[in-house]
Amino acid sequence: MPAIILVGTQWGDEGKGKATDLLADDVDYVVRYQGGSNAGHTVIVDDLELKLHLVPSGIAYPAVTPVIGDGVVVDPAALLEELDELTAKGLDVSQLKISGNAHLVMPYHRELDKVTERYLGKQKLGTTKRGIGPAYADKAARVGLRVQDLYDMKIFRQKLDVVLREKNATLSRVYNRMPMQAGDIETEHAVYAERLRPYITDTVGLLHDALEDDRTVMLEGAQGTLLDLDHGTYPFVTSSNPVAGGALTGAGLGPKHVDRVIGVTKAYVTRVGSGPFPTEVSGEVADRLTAAGHEFGTTTGRQRRVGWFDAVLIRYAARVNGLTEHFLTKMDVLSEFDTLRVCRAYRYAGEEYEHFPPHQSIFHRAEPVYEEHPGWRTDISDVRDYRSLPAEAQAFVDRIEELSGAPIRYVSVGPSRAQTLERDGR
Ligand code: GDP
Repeated sequence: MPAIILVGTQWGDEGKGKATDLLADDVDYVVRYQGGSNAGHTVIVDDLELKLHLVPSGIAYPAVTPVIGDGVVVDPAALLEELDELTAKGLDVSQLKISGNAHLVMPYHRELDKVTERYLGKQKLGTTKRGIGPAYADKAARVGLRVQDLYDMKIFRQKLDVVLREKNATLSRVYNRMPMQAGDIETEHAVYAERLRPYITDTVGLLHDALEDDRTVMLEGAQGTLLDLDHGTYPFVTSSNPVAGGALTGAGLGPKHVDRVIGVTKAYVTRVGSGPFPTEVSGEVADRLTAAGHEFGTTTGRQRRVGWFDAVLIRYAARVNGLTEHFLTKMDVLSEFDTLRVCRAYRYAGEEYEHFPPHQSIFHRAEPVYEEHPGWRTDISDVRDYRSLPAEAQAFVDRIEELSGAPIRYVSVGPSRAQTLERDGR
């Protein structure tokens, strides 16, 4: 009865969709456990490229049941739009299961996300403005509306009236925006309720039954470890818990159910939005990494910040997630360079830090301590067997494995499934 957790070890966009694709043949359920429609996975199946936001990537595989767990925040309008797009591409979405305990992203959450970001000015967090942060804030404040509230419109309206009084006061008095009408929101949501009805399920019960039946459940993280609300680079983080512990909370499972925690780790680092990034590069190196790696956001189209592999972050991710292995992605992108850099520690005020510094100010000002490694300068995207990689590429993987707190079990050299090399003995 194994559950597998798949989690990004950096700031998201590590290529989790690709890792899911590889494992999808062996799993029966793929569960999203946190985040909302702010996530962006690219899954390529049989030449069909799917850009997924809220829907679990399991949707692409007929034998897999995709599940939106309790810990996700669901924007019904965004979800229905995504389901319509997938249906138009010929996918059968009827197997999707959505937890009634998941919280709803409401229209006032989207509006508040936009205006508060503007209000923060230069201090802005760089959110995707889809209302995810405000929805999680209301969940913690216990004034959130949940998916199940859609099926008792009297309760829905009661809760909405209470919360809207405060939201409208904030919107109009603090941000000078138009108040929202409860009646309009109720009418809109009654329509969503009917369309979503076939998907609503007791997902916790479903997953436990599945595990007892010896089915394999994969818990699919969105964003990444350094964006975790508790363990990331706060406040430049997401408003939920992508780490492995969050997977258990968000899906309703316990530690005993999990036997693999796979960290998806890019062979360099990218980051979207604001916040510290010790190994960030600019100029020509950045342009080459961005171009070769197509580093533009799936959800926002924003150009990502880029930098060299940072082993301090990866070791930290191995610890806080309890990783059993790494899935290393985008090795092919590094074929561009004569010399590769790997950050093995940080330096601050004359001291070296091999582990993630306990104080944020140190992380902000940390200077990377780099090792240099020779590049391989040859296209590796056609290599289909790990031992056929150039010696420099294998040496690079060996070295970052030593630094990364868990074995590197897979090495990915391109977006398609065939471009994945499994290493022996890991
Ligand atoms: P996710 O959010 O972690 O799933 O990451 P994204 O989907 O935003 O980014 C991954 C992108 O990189 C997608 O376009 C993938 O097709 C692509 N990709 C994944 N693995 C590799 C790889 O090994 N090499 C190359 N060149 N592209 C990859």
